[in-house]
Amino acid sequence: MKKIAIYGKGGIGKSTTVSNLSAALAVSGYRVMQVGCDPKADSTRNLTGGKKIATVLELLRDKENVSLKDLVYEGDEGVFCVEAGGPVPGVGCAGRGIITAFEKLEELDAFEVYKPDIVIYDVLGDVVCGGFAMPIRGGYAEEVYIVSSGEMMSLYAASNIAYAVKMFGKRKYASLRGIILNSKNIENEEALVRDAAAEIETQVVYQIGRNPLVQQAEAIGKTVVSAFPESDMTKNYLELAAML
Ligand code: ADP
Ligand code: SF4
Ligand code: MG
Repeated sequence: MKKIAIYGKGGIGKSTTVSNLSAALAVSGYRVMQVGCDPKADSTRNLTGGKKIATVLELLRDKENVSLKDLVYEGDEGVFCVEAGGPVPGVGCAGRGIITAFEKLEELDAFEVYKPDIVIYDVLGDVVCGGFAMPIRGGYAEEVYIVSSGEMMSLYAASNIAYAVKMFGKRKYASLRGIILNSKNIENEEALVRDAAAEIETQVVYQIGRNPLVQQAEAIGKTVVSAFPESDMTKNYLELAAML
């Protein structure tokens, strides 16, 4: 089983990229589990017809005997979808929430029951505190990718995430595999991101173009891979999936 964490600044396209990757891996024959680790809890929305699934934290708050069936929703292409969820706004620690969700999945033997070949964690990288770094600290993910565009703020977040991974890397937690450039069509974008990657001693592993098919698929609650399987954009996601 391969375990990958994908980090990046909020709004940069993590969930879009991760859900398309999950779908691409699934149509390539892998069993995939996607775990949303963003308090927004919308990581898997394009695999579930646009509807929000119950989060682990909500279920733990509201239900007495939570079972795996409550936590794991089988989405498009058979991707197993989980949303960790977050604390009630203004109260509690989001990172702690992620840890609680992970512990519950472990306690219920989620990986042994669903037997995914690959688990992808979709993690918000604006704050790289101990809680949000949990997917790379607790042995949950071995490989880390960062989604970034050429925008300064997303490159700044990428640099912070890379720093955190490196700190933990010394203790053999996880390694940084590189940056996935999700284009915003900024002038000189590729060179900007390549330079930033070199500065943090990593590389750009793939460049995804900006494409209106993403919004068209999103409007019907789908990934591009499921909605437009013959498109060039789907080919790109399949190519990236094959590189993971
Ligand atoms: P994050 O998970 O990082 O917060 P999202 O994946 O939700 O970000 O992306 C934010 C918005 O950006 C999405 O609603 C989507 O419409 C748009 N988007 C992301 N990637 C692309 C792309 N490659 N082409 C066009 N639009 C994109
Ligand atoms: Fe929790 Fe991190 Fe927020 Fe602090 S910054 S409350 S550790 S999620
Ligand atoms: Mg997201």
